[in-house]
Amino acid sequence: MSTAKGFASRAIHHAYKPQDNEGALTPPLHLTSTFVFETAEAGGEMFAGERAGHIYSRISNPTLDLLERRIAELEGAEAGLALSSGMGAITATLWTLVAPGDEIIVDETLYGCTFAFMRHGLTKFGIKISHVDMTNPENLCAAISDKTRVVYFETPANPNMRLVDIERISEISHEAGATVVVDNTYATPYLTRPVEMGADIVLHSATKYLGGHGDVVAGLVVGNEEQISEIRLVGMKDMTGAVMAPFNALLIMRGLKTLALRMDRHCSSAQKVAEWLEDHPAVSKVHFPGLESFEQHGLATRQMTQPGGMIAFELEGGLEAGTGMMNALQMIQRAVSLGDAETLIQHPASMTHSTYTPEERAAHGISDGLVRLSVGLEDLDDILDDLKQAMPDVVVANAA
Ligand SMILES: *Cc1c(COP(=O)(O)O)cnc(C)c1O
Repeated sequence: MSTAKGFASRAIHHAYKPQDNEGALTPPLHLTSTFVFETAEAGGEMFAGERAGHIYSRISNPTLDLLERRIAELEGAEAGLALSSGMGAITATLWTLVAPGDEIIVDETLYGCTFAFMRHGLTKFGIKISHVDMTNPENLCAAISDKTRVVYFETPANPNMRLVDIERISEISHEAGATVVVDNTYATPYLTRPVEMGADIVLHSATKYLGGHGDVVAGLVVGNEEQISEIRLVGMKDMTGAVMAPFNALLIMRGLKTLALRMDRHCSSAQKVAEWLEDHPAVSKVHFPGLESFEQHGLATRQMTQPGGMIAFELEGGLEAGTGMMNALQMIQRAVSLGDAETLIQHPASMTHSTYTPEERAAHGISDGLVRLSVGLEDLDDILDDLKQAMPDVVVANAA
């Protein structure tokens, strides 16, 4: 049984046999839009759902099927679904689950496009979005009702790395009959498996750690057979058409083969970088689940096998210090996205959120000195050296 094997072995071998594929070590690419029916009757049976088989690649494809089995296996779920992007996964899932009059309760901290989809997209169709600070599960108890169809959150969440207690939130949600959807992009199934903690549906921007090489945009969803079949046939096939291209599925499977190795390195380097930042006089605060000073360090230890590769920190010197540091970096790359081999850095106040007023940024929990770092796979000393030379000079105030 494959389930007896370890994470890395399953990420490499699960559900594929070379002997069934002309001996090919790596899976074939099924570059086909459509599939031929042996007879008219066979086609009829497939459409009626009485016979298994592929019909058209907006519904299913053998290359995608293998990736879907692998991610389900790694997340500890029954079934998986591959989509064109993380946003494709999120939109197809939510369009499938909700109807006008329903409510979705979401955490206060959300990925920007997810926030925009809910706030500007779903609300147009009579769906109510309520924001709750889920770091305290009691807040959800107070807000949830029989109108609540979905409870949705990310853990850890951008930009402050706050965590949500998956087990407790799932209990509260299930008592009220709501479906729990978790965006597990930051942690990956190597660090956290939300389904095993009670969540119903887990989704990913596979663009990030799962792909891991910054060369593909992709999304994945896992859940039970019935939910995934519904998301496939309603949210993906009809409502969004957000299907993954077969070649991208191969790239994601290649990424999965080294996920465990890469995450070990991302996490150990991030721990060292976070500790170094915490001691630096130009830094007023470091948000990283692996630090003892992190408010939810206890939950991080219970819920994550390692603290992840993402760090947020705040520069004492605000906007000017942040902009100066960005421009002084030599190896570390100024870019959005995360989870790549390259260390990536982002300063929201001068980059992604530069059009917001300082007040608007504050309302989104973004201080002017906030910097987000995706620690890459380069040599740790080179990452530290680059940060060191780019850090703002600090005037020691009490020198007199
Ligand atoms: C990037 C990201 C998304 C969106 O994924 P895309 O692949 O860019 O569509 C969703 N959630 C989180 C947490 C992300 O980081």
